[in-house]
Amino acid sequence: MPHEPVSDATLCSRSPAPPRSSTEPLSPPIQLASVFRIAGIDEVDDLFGGRAEGFFYARDGHPNASQLADKLARLEGAEAGVVCASGMGAIAATVLANAERGGRVLLSDELYGKTTTLVVRELSRFGVAHGFFDPSRPDSLREALAAAPDVRLVVAETLSNPLLRVCDLAAVAAVAAEAGVPLLVDHTFAPLLCKPIALGVPLVAHSLTKLISGHADVTLGAVVGAREAIGRVRAVASTFGQTGGAFDSWLALRGAVTLPLRVERTSRTALELARRLEAHPKVARVSYPGLPSHPDHVVARRQFGDRFGAMIAFEVDGRERADRLIRGLRDVPFAPSLGDAETTVSHPLTTSHRGQDPEALAKAGVTPGLIRVSVGLEDVDDLWNDFDQALGLT
Ligand SMILES: *Cc1c(COP(=O)(O)O)cnc(C)c1O
Repeated sequence: MPHEPVSDATLCSRSPAPPRSSTEPLSPPIQLASVFRIAGIDEVDDLFGGRAEGFFYARDGHPNASQLADKLARLEGAEAGVVCASGMGAIAATVLANAERGGRVLLSDELYGKTTTLVVRELSRFGVAHGFFDPSRPDSLREALAAAPDVRLVVAETLSNPLLRVCDLAAVAAVAAEAGVPLLVDHTFAPLLCKPIALGVPLVAHSLTKLISGHADVTLGAVVGAREAIGRVRAVASTFGQTGGAFDSWLALRGAVTLPLRVERTSRTALELARRLEAHPKVARVSYPGLPSHPDHVVARRQFGDRFGAMIAFEVDGRERADRLIRGLRDVPFAPSLGDAETTVSHPLTTSHRGQDPEALAKAGVTPGLIRVSVGLEDVDDLWNDFDQALGLT
């Protein structure tokens, strides 16, 4: 049917109809719409009543986030997932969905700095108490739970930053389940190395900014778990404005295509690099869960099998040598994040752990000479040549 003639202003202002096509795009289209067109009022009731599926307003959900959340949930073996604007968005929404005034959040004692800050500094203002436990000793969680009847959530990480201590997820999950308290595990450093849900962990968060997106061009996060628990997190994330956007979700979906290949490759390269670093006379100590010298190597083998991830920490003698090493690297950039296709180094004392009190730093093993490496996809010999020549300059 021919269109009614309309003015230029009208023609330009109206959204075009979806293109007619008997075929569908093979890859997911980016759908940036912030709001969706609804046929009528009854359909609104159907959407809100759960009788119809569909999108309504992008902060509550949109196609690209939905596709990404589904993929991540399936990858982790969970019922459902929600995408948030950052890893911290996902963690904060989960904490907010579970914490309450007069209740307590138990934190493993080497968490990502901002996760600890969120609970200790920010939520304390709202009357949420906290406590700590040692993730390498599930008994310390049992003791902390026994001492506090008001715990609403336990938070742990699969691999700690920067020394890559390994949490025995099955043991910690069993203790939390025994007490009937939900457990959130931040699995950012260890995607695919193990599946926490299968080990009994009810809630799993990722900073998608890191390894899952994999190209250092996205800021995004997600949490997966049982449908009901995730529904509650989704509602909180929408109310607090923490949900993620369409383009970032699309980029993360795109990055995740190669995740299994990258995990395989970076784990192999990291193990070899860790061995060579450990044998180098200028290196005082190497932390890599794949090395027999790592304090949690036995747990790591049981939990991860023969892949131990992309992250290594190692120590040279003092801040000056660390600085000379960082400046001496010809190709490997100093960039305080992780998970890119390109290998990067970071200096935890002045970046991720900046400003923490000396006692906490000593406990976390963050010394002035500590360097953290996020291993990328380069050839291992080329990487080693760069580290070897830079170590020679220290
Ligand atoms: C980066 C990171 C976060 C926070 O993620 P953002 O996307 O930067 O908000 C949380 N946990 C761990 C372990 C991280 O490395």
